[in-house]
Amino acid sequence: MSTDAVVVGSGPNGLSAAIELARNGRSVTVVEANETIGGGCRSAELTLPGFVHDLCSAFHPMGAASPFFRSLELGSLGLEWIEPPLALAHPLDDGTAIVLSRSLDETARGLGSDGRAWRRLVAQLVQHWPDLATDALGPLIKIPQHPLVLARLGLPGLLSARLLARRAFVTERARALFAGLAAHSMMPLDAPLSASFGLMFAVTTHVASWPIARGGSQRIADALVAKLGSLGGAVMTRTRVRDIRDLDTARAYLFDTTPRQLDRIAGARLSNGYRGRIARFRSGPGVFKLDYALDGPVPWRARDCLRAGTVHLGGTLDEIAESEEDVARGRVPEHPFVLVGQQSLFDRSRAPAGKETLWAYCHVPNGSAVDMTGRIEAQLERFAPGFRDRVLARSAMGPAAIAEHNENYLGGDIGGGESSALQLFGRPVLSFDPYATSARDIFLCSSSTPPGGGVHGMCGYHAARSALRQALR
Ligand SMILES: Cc1cc2nc3c(=O)[nH]c(=O)nc-3n(C[C@H](O)[C@H](O)[C@H](O)COP(=O)(O)OP(=O)(O)OC[C@H]3O[C@@H](n4cnc5c(N)ncnc54)[C@H](O)[C@@H]3O)c2cc1C
Repeated sequence: MSTDAVVVGSGPNGLSAAIELARNGRSVTVVEANETIGGGCRSAELTLPGFVHDLCSAFHPMGAASPFFRSLELGSLGLEWIEPPLALAHPLDDGTAIVLSRSLDETARGLGSDGRAWRRLVAQLVQHWPDLATDALGPLIKIPQHPLVLARLGLPGLLSARLLARRAFVTERARALFAGLAAHSMMPLDAPLSASFGLMFAVTTHVASWPIARGGSQRIADALVAKLGSLGGAVMTRTRVRDIRDLDTARAYLFDTTPRQLDRIAGARLSNGYRGRIARFRSGPGVFKLDYALDGPVPWRARDCLRAGTVHLGGTLDEIAESEEDVARGRVPEHPFVLVGQQSLFDRSRAPAGKETLWAYCHVPNGSAVDMTGRIEAQLERFAPGFRDRVLARSAMGPAAIAEHNENYLGGDIGGGESSALQLFGRPVLSFDPYATSARDIFLCSSSTPPGGGVHGMCGYHAARSALRQALR
């Protein structure tokens, strides 16, 4: 059978690429190695019957703020975003929590004397989000359409997160909040550009909060597949692609994989020069993840935590920086920075009545085999004494198990590649069109291309535009 395009991988970017091709009138088939579609956007009963857990992504500031997702009107295809009252709570040892809300006013009020500084940093960027998204959520090597807006992000964003937090804020509370946001980058907080992640997370919070999908993140993938189906595209599951020659003949092949897999599957079709360049693309740190079935809500000391979808555990800026520095140096942190999700508090379809789910992970060195359960639970007990008494069942996944669920997550790297300064601009290579490869009909559409990790579909969208320009005219 022959088709215009084959997409390898049904993650949010693979599906987005397929949708963009299909809505431009091209025939497209997606082939997926796993039994289930969605890649990093899936849900399953990992612990006990009736408890629905997000295998990977859970909170979707970028998904809800994504110009591409917004253009698809996924709400009419079954996707319902639920917005917890607070996007984020960040508890401290004094029994209080710093809170981040969609409302800039509420957030600024909570930050006290640093409220004005918070506004100064993000208010203009929030106001100009559509312009910022145009320039920041795609290839970074280009002439920006809105240079002044981009400079408001780019200039402070060039700094390390620690430096920006110390310069911008006078209180340890605001600094800790910013550190937790920047730590999503998995970069050391002393690395240049790590501040840009903190800023982007802060801005998207005020644009779209950190919503969850009713019923589980799987519903995002399901809605994308429904959209693709409505446009005539199809997905074939249980089809692991080992060699590009095994695929149906097509005018374009788009890979929702890392560059390393692309090379393994299609290396014979790529030039030696290009293969050499993608061979230098590095994986980032891994993650260790725990999912819990709980006998009730987490007994947080800071009550505000019960109003938040996400909770950041790690204490002060310096503590979080130390944890991320350990990971960058290949050491397992003794007191890891832990990202916690409380989906069932706001979506009763996730757990039986009176019970709760909990989602938690921390960063570890790539490929680490160390069991982090004890260290993660120590952080939970620090801010919620008695937590362990609520545990009915737990599922633990270290880097090897994470990679088993999704072969893109090499060594447990969930970001599609390290977020170093070089790899932010050269993702996976320095180019005006980083989606194109040396072969005219082969494209990369995964989070190993700009704008990188997260469920937003923008990598897939841009890759499809590149394919439409070059191979599918
Ligand atoms: C624990 C965890 C927590 C996360 N939390 C969040 C979050 O809260 N919010 C957020 O926005 N993001 C989060 N992410 C990141 C997010 O899931 C990814 O950035 C996103 O899924 C990347 O999308 P993608 O389409 O590029 O690739 P993926 O989603 O990884 O999809 C790739 C697909 O390709 C398939 N594939 C690979 N090789 C082959 C092959 N040879 N043949 C056929 N199919 C193949 C895979 O099976 C997979 O289905 C998290 C990830 C993890 C693991």
